[in-house]
Amino acid sequence: MKTAKARFRFKGGVHPAYHKELSCAAPVRDLPLPGLLAVSMSQHLGAPAKCLVKPGDRVERGMKIGEKNGFISCAVHSPAAGVVKSVETVPTATGAMAPAVFIETDPSAKGGVRLPRIDWRKASPADIVQRAEECGICGMGGAGFPTAVKISPPKGSKCDFLILNGAECEPYLTADHRLMLECPERVRVGAEILRRALGGPAVRIAVEENKPDAIAALEKAFAGIDGDVEITVLPCLYPQGSEKHQIRAVTGRIVPEGALPISTGCVVENVSTAAALADAVEAGEPLVSRITAVTGDGVSSPCNVRAPVGTRYSELCAFAGGETGKVAKVISGGPMMGFNVPNLDIPTTKTTSGLLFLTEASVFEYSSSPCIGCGRCMRACPMNLSPAEISRCVESGDIGGAEALWVMDCIECGSCSFSCPARRDITQHCRRAKASIRAARAIEAAKAKAAAKA
Ligand code: SF4
Ligand code: SF4
Repeated sequence: MKTAKARFRFKGGVHPAYHKELSCAAPVRDLPLPGLLAVSMSQHLGAPAKCLVKPGDRVERGMKIGEKNGFISCAVHSPAAGVVKSVETVPTATGAMAPAVFIETDPSAKGGVRLPRIDWRKASPADIVQRAEECGICGMGGAGFPTAVKISPPKGSKCDFLILNGAECEPYLTADHRLMLECPERVRVGAEILRRALGGPAVRIAVEENKPDAIAALEKAFAGIDGDVEITVLPCLYPQGSEKHQIRAVTGRIVPEGALPISTGCVVENVSTAAALADAVEAGEPLVSRITAVTGDGVSSPCNVRAPVGTRYSELCAFAGGETGKVAKVISGGPMMGFNVPNLDIPTTKTTSGLLFLTEASVFEYSSSPCIGCGRCMRACPMNLSPAEISRCVESGDIGGAEALWVMDCIECGSCSFSCPARRDITQHCRRAKASIRAARAIEAAKAKAAAKA
């Protein structure tokens, strides 16, 4: 095992102020069990899980309450024992609606449902994939891609590199940092399990250089591991944690437009996902809780809290000492790619890495002005797009023009908006164009399906 600086870098990117000092030194604390949880059936990428319970049902911690409902989907488990109060549609952080199971928790209940332990040293890749699926493991860095799918490369493809993503490049977020610092051995076990599932690729643990204590903890935990394993220290550059850009920075390989990372022989998993898989395999624990950074100048005691999924944002805010002053903005996720949320009734999911409370002092109010053609957005775009041109197309209602400018390749990183002196809402324009194109494509696909049936 060695530690080395990244040998490559990607084009573009920006250097936002990090503000991680607010919570990076705060050890992870457990949230007392909330009295009511709202467990969403849509905590992952793909189709929402099919709800398996109804009002009045008794549930135990770890019991499956949502069945995977499609190839890209994930099972959902109860984070606590209790009684199902209702099944209702709730708003999610993105603004979409999703069915959720409301559970009145029972703090006196002991134990819960666990699957039998698997000895991963003897397990087959299929055993590990099945366990990831049974325990509802999905990417915890934000996208929520089902892990069982990700570690089942299509026939004919080979995984050369397993990259564990510990970059956490978004400002404010510190949940992965604390996990690597406090539980590096869980990350190591997760890495070994993933490596076994993927047929023994080289392992790269990618961490930004602003986390020297986490790098030291990982070096200690990974000492003595066999095979080609490296902690790759990345420079601080947003969006270093983006899958495609991390592959470029760590291996020098480029994921072609529209292709999956496995097409370049790489699989990227978040460090928290690796730790969750270790718990699923070694302890039979479904994914029912996670660490979330609750931070910003709008809460009294910024912190890192391990909370059951389904905890309402209001409870996390109270755990962080409550709001200070006038909170101007609450963001689920990081400030670059996260979502402004309208209220604190929204429940956490497996992908809630951070909850930011920002006062007026931290939120720059602005109005946008016409493009001055400075080209900064183009230089900042890590996807080599023409953000100003795309923005102009969207403003004039020319979604086809935006599509022709490859807007579907936009990763919505926000680097263009961040660097724009005219404060133009370029990222929102990209999001809007992508949503329109996706909707149009879905209509076309439905029409084609109907025509084929007729
Ligand atoms: S156009 Fe998309 S990918 Fe490029 S900088 Fe803007 S948000 Fe990021
Ligand atoms: S950064 Fe803003 S002002 Fe400059 S070219 Fe891009 S959109 Fe126009």
